[in-house]
Amino acid sequence: MTTNRGRKDVIRDRMTATGESYNVAARNLKSMKDMGATREAVRTQRWRPAESLDVPCPCGGLCEPGEKCDRCHARHRHVSRFPGSRTEVETWADRYDCMGCASSYVLTITLPGRPWGIAETVVRGGSAESVVQARVFPGVRHPLLRPEESEEGTESEEG
Ligand SMILES: [Zn+2]
Ligand SMILES: [Zn+2]
Repeated sequence: MTTNRGRKDVIRDRMTATGESYNVAARNLKSMKDMGATREAVRTQRWRPAESLDVPCPCGGLCEPGEKCDRCHARHRHVSRFPGSRTEVETWADRYDCMGCASSYVLTITLPGRPWGIAETVVRGGSAESVVQARVFPGVRHPLLRPEESEEGTESEEG
């Protein structure tokens, strides 16, 4: 638990403004803060691949041009992006599929300031060993980790 005076002041300000209890105000402030980052993370991950290579990739233009395929000599196209690490929240994996055959490859990239979650250092039980644990923002699909369970009813969307 952090005992940060600045943070408490912010919570008290909100309590005064909204009449919320301390816990409710703290929770709402936290979710507001997470929401902007969450929206950004979901946008970073969810987009439709470009129809052709003539148009800019809708992922935000931060990907590399797809390589030429060794097998069929068509080009690879950026088709998806997902978190590329369990603990490095700015590490993403970009998948490229060949437009002519089933060939594909994955590039690991870093997107500074566009994390897919929050990394927290937690102290684990008995051994008091501290480990880094990442929390995935709701709405972000992580191949290795599960999103927070607390959000209800926002799971079912498929892309
Ligand atoms: Zn792209
Ligand atoms: Zn190919």
